[in-house]
Amino acid sequence: MLISSRDKITKSYDVIVIGSGLAGMTAANKLAKNGRSVLLLEAHNKLGGFATWFYRAGKKHVFDISLHGFPFGMKKTCRKYWNKEIADLIVQLKDVRFVNPQYQIQSSFTREDFTQKLNEHFKVPLEQINSFYNYIEAMNFYDDQQMTNAELFEKFFPGRNDIVRFLMEPIVYANGSTLDDPAISYGIVFSNFMKKGVYTFSGGTDHLIKLMQKELLANNVDIRKHAKIDEIVVEKGVVKGVRFKGELIPARAVLSNANIKTTITKLIGSEYLPSDYVEEAKKVRLNSSSCQVYIGIKPGEKIKPIGDLVFTSTYPTFNTQALLDKNITSRTFSVYYPEGRPFDQEEKYAIVSSTNANWDDWAQLSEEEYAKEKEKMIKETIEALEKFVPDIRDKIDFIDAATPKTIKKYTHHENGSSFGTKFEGLSVSMNLHKKLPGVFHAGSVGIIMSGWLGAANYGVIQSNEIESFLYNQDKEG
Ligand SMILES: Cc1cc2nc3c(=O)[nH]c(=O)nc-3n(C[C@H](O)[C@H](O)[C@H](O)COP(=O)(O)OP(=O)(O)OC[C@H]3O[C@@H](n4cnc5c(N)ncnc54)[C@H](O)[C@@H]3O)c2cc1C
Repeated sequence: MLISSRDKITKSYDVIVIGSGLAGMTAANKLAKNGRSVLLLEAHNKLGGFATWFYRAGKKHVFDISLHGFPFGMKKTCRKYWNKEIADLIVQLKDVRFVNPQYQIQSSFTREDFTQKLNEHFKVPLEQINSFYNYIEAMNFYDDQQMTNAELFEKFFPGRNDIVRFLMEPIVYANGSTLDDPAISYGIVFSNFMKKGVYTFSGGTDHLIKLMQKELLANNVDIRKHAKIDEIVVEKGVVKGVRFKGELIPARAVLSNANIKTTITKLIGSEYLPSDYVEEAKKVRLNSSSCQVYIGIKPGEKIKPIGDLVFTSTYPTFNTQALLDKNITSRTFSVYYPEGRPFDQEEKYAIVSSTNANWDDWAQLSEEEYAKEKEKMIKETIEALEKFVPDIRDKIDFIDAATPKTIKKYTHHENGSSFGTKFEGLSVSMNLHKKLPGVFHAGSVGIIMSGWLGAANYGVIQSNEIESFLYNQDKEG
């Protein structure tokens, strides 16, 4: 049932899920399918978290925030934990391009194609390429986590900054990882993409979330939007539910899809958890944020195909600091052609330019400086895009930009973190219910569990933990 803002919530639940990101929604759906009573509470006026969109000028323009590309595994996850209709709308993006001072390459972003490029363009022997792929494909979470990305690349492609850029730059965009992060976080995510390429959702994020909401309601999940939760209620080490508008909504278990640090220090409160665990949580580093420029094309105008995802940079070499710098040199253009929105009556073209960003660079600006920097970002993005679409200025109908501050405003993520936390956040998140039985976390953590697929799969993993917690409670009577 969709609970309106006027209605009071009077029921008690097996599980309350705070936050409707892909992790929160997938967990809610799976638990409800298992027959558990579930309440999903979302602060925003729509479900989805980062899996979101916005319309302008009625529905003349639509912009997807994070629908740029995910691995094929999302199709399997949606078929198994959502439904066939959703899974069947997941389609491959075939035209991925790289344009920078070191190379210009077009690819399908698969192991087969990358192997060919590494061999023919970068002149690496096939044996060396295969040993790299075999090595990363064998990586798993329980492996040695000491090796960094820089060490991984030096092991297989010593001194080849151009190859590091080719292999790493798209993953930096996908999850904010750097050369200092554990190689395992790169290896798992990159291998996931390489299995079958990059995929998207045909119909846009708005259509996906509409279908997901329908499925949640069909499985009897109660949903309340405009519900920002400030407290998970714990009494004598036992979870009682959540407090909303001053009143307790009782539940046997609570799953938080808010950031793990916020969950521990603000929603639960440090006093309810062991102090060494709280200290460990405080040390977890947040991941980087993002800037985006949204360009809506005039109705009736067309854009010739320039690629689905175009990774561009004017920086001479691969440098993870440069990828985050406010003086933007690297942009990924996601081009949305009308074929990607088959349910729309009118043809629409949109381009979204995405860049990784540091929170501090934007948060410290005065209002006046902030407005000026945003204008500069918009102006320079058009100049960069002109190289691919020479008459773009004549075709633009709408343009606006978002910064880390915009992300924080809409998602409540500390520092506008786009990809959750660095690697150490994963064990803190996974251990929460061991420190406080009945309270669980699912959402972007540890680089591996971020992105659409990582978040959705983490929702499944944590829903299994909740299920066994409830099962044991049932057994004990
Ligand atoms: C600019 C950008 C581009 C991206 N591009 C891609 C991409 O191309 N491919 C990809 O796979 N991933 C991409 N991502 C990452 C991906 O979108 C996220 O990793 C994923 O969607 C996060 O899901 P989540 O479950 O962690 O929850 P989130 O999306 O973080 O959602 C959490 C939800 O909880 C709600 N919430 C928080 N606190 C409370 C509270 N106290 N009470 C009630 N509700 C609360 C929030 O409002 C939000 O709706 C991108 C992200 C960004 C920002």
